[in-house]
Amino acid sequence: MSSGSSRPVGIFGGTFDPIHFGHLRLAEELGDVLSLEEVRLVPARLPPHRGDPSVSAQDRLEMVRRAAAGNPRLRVDDREIQREGPSYTVDTLTALRAELGTQRPLHLLLGVDAFLALMTWSRWQQLFDLAHLVVATRPGYSLALEALPEPLGSMARERHSQQPGSSAAGSILTREIAALDISASAIRRSLEQGRSVRYLIPDSVLDYIRDHRLYRGKHGG
Ligand code: ATP
Repeated sequence: MSSGSSRPVGIFGGTFDPIHFGHLRLAEELGDVLSLEEVRLVPARLPPHRGDPSVSAQDRLEMVRRAAAGNPRLRVDDREIQREGPSYTVDTLTALRAELGTQRPLHLLLGVDAFLALMTWSRWQQLFDLAHLVVATRPGYSLALEALPEPLGSMARERHSQQPGSSAAGSILTREIAALDISASAIRRSLEQGRSVRYLIPDSVLDYIRDHRLYRGKHGG
């Protein structure tokens, strides 16, 4: 643990089924522009908002480990994989907050599509007590704060106008990042059809998928 530092910490959760360059670029770019001491990549064991992942939690965790290897900014956090039951972000942030103390700025990183679904998340309003939310652009999704459903809309507009300064939590930031039109579902489809996903995911992850014969689909040989 990075004790003694007061620099902000980023947390970036996902199903990572599999992790791809869209995820990695988001983590790298937001880590850089927000001067985050580290970005914690947190694979979900059982994502509450979607069907079961295509491959095991252990395989997804291992792919995240391989993808993060060699990047000192990235740290893999397996707490959701170790925890029983659905992976609620609010529980993860509560645990991290207890470790980091009340003063340390914590930034929850997410893409626009995830933010648009925020009201479906468990105890979502508590997230703002625990972290700042940083919403990154993603091709195919647009963020219009004035068009968000209530009560997220008014809350987002108010919090978006607040500068985080050195505060620990409570603001919403929006950031434009490199537009990479990559999604895990498109990668899974390609792999199931035997098509190439090279240059969409790190070679180390591709090797893992090949070695463990993942995402082969019903007819994969
Ligand atoms: P799927 O296609 O299976 O839904 P995904 O590619 O969206 O998967 P997730 O693991 O569900 O990947 O996403 C984790 C987080 O990464 C979410 O906050 C999502 O918005 C963000 N994200 C994923 N891909 C991109 C991308 N290409 N650009 C920006 N953000 C992304």
